[in-house]
Amino acid sequence: MPEQKLYPEGNVNPSDILKGITKVETPFYLYDNFLISERCGKICNMPSAFGLFPRYAMKASSNRNLIHIITQDRRMGIDASSLNEAKRANWAGVPFSDILLTSQEVPEGEDRKELERMMLKGMEYNVCSIRQLEEIADFASSNNIPLSMRVHPEGNVGAGESITRNTASKYSCFGVHIEELEKILQTAEEKRVYFKRVHDHIGSGGDPKKWKENTDVLLNIIEKYFSDHPVETVNFGGGIKEARMPEDSSADIHELGRYSAEKVEEFARRTGKRLTTEVEPGSYTITNAGYLITKVIDKKSTGEDGFNFLVLNGGMEVNTRPLMYGAKHPFYVVSSQGDLLSSEFNLSDVPENSMWVPVGRCCESGDSQSLDEEENIIPRKMAEPKIGDFLIIGGCGSYCSTMSPFNYNSHTQAPEVSKQTNGEIRTIRKPQKLEQVMENEV
Ligand SMILES: *Cc1c(COP(=O)(O)O)cnc(C)c1O
Repeated sequence: MPEQKLYPEGNVNPSDILKGITKVETPFYLYDNFLISERCGKICNMPSAFGLFPRYAMKASSNRNLIHIITQDRRMGIDASSLNEAKRANWAGVPFSDILLTSQEVPEGEDRKELERMMLKGMEYNVCSIRQLEEIADFASSNNIPLSMRVHPEGNVGAGESITRNTASKYSCFGVHIEELEKILQTAEEKRVYFKRVHDHIGSGGDPKKWKENTDVLLNIIEKYFSDHPVETVNFGGGIKEARMPEDSSADIHELGRYSAEKVEEFARRTGKRLTTEVEPGSYTITNAGYLITKVIDKKSTGEDGFNFLVLNGGMEVNTRPLMYGAKHPFYVVSSQGDLLSSEFNLSDVPENSMWVPVGRCCESGDSQSLDEEENIIPRKMAEPKIGDFLIIGGCGSYCSTMSPFNYNSHTQAPEVSKQTNGEIRTIRKPQKLEQVMENEV
């Protein structure tokens, strides 16, 4: 019988955990290079009207080895959320011309000079506010560099798994709001700068229907406001949903592509402009290709009316999403011998009353891997592990390693390993040493 996989569409087996612990100690992140390549293939085959250039939103997972896999054949570029991300992408081998910087900051001092050097080498700059335009306009016009603009998605197209991940409502400040568009375009005209790309992003993990509605909204904004600009590219942002849990469903990326292609074609018929399409999938690229491997270090109970707890040697400091958003992740229980005892994707053999609350090791009562949006802990069905067995948290490829408060309680940043397509497990980030945590203290 072939060995059972962890995530069913991926290529990681329970026995790979045993190979992983010969390289690094738990907790660690494990990435599935096979699944990353498979998802990149799907993204690159997304239908488009006049060409597609997908950009990986590297804030999802920023290790240079992963960026290298995603961008190596130059079919995908990079969406960078900060100047440092853009620098890291370039260190990973991505040419500046494949990087679009979309950030809340206007770099100052040394960083400002660096930004200009990077733009002269072809990095593109996405203007997100009037102030940003004022800061960059003279440099752009004197060097003949066309700019991009991020607009605030108009209407009710915002989507996100939670309010804080919806970037289109009035509660979100990202992009230039429609009521400021005329003013910013006036400034652009005075400063003689031009926009060649218009961009928006509706938020993470939301409803694919909203993603479609947004394509209409953005194309209408381009038609109405940008007719004096040499717009060549429409960038619909990220937010292409990738399901973590078996009961959730992923966006049908092919269908989204077909829909937006049709809209871009209609736009061409109306305006004579044949726009290239860009998308910026972070989650879709890498979410299910990442696992957090933890060890069960204790078992406790809070009595008959209470809960049964599994204490793990990694929690909020390595995956903060359950605490921050009430996000649900799939769990796999693997014995210390490398046998799969239960998988979120097949719980039929697990007794009904085998309900557990996995918690971390931090001094913080919210340090659980299973919470709802009101921050109540939620017991979950899984096989009962022994102390020393592994609890593996799936869906940890995006926004886990990059987003976690890893030094809380003076824990050190967890290492990362990846499973190569030839089956070999390689360390791609070494464990942080305690001296590194303290090295800047004076
Ligand atoms: C975060 C972000 C993305 C990626 O979002 P996903 O939901 O991970 O696909 C894309 N573009 C921008 C501008 C972002 O801020």
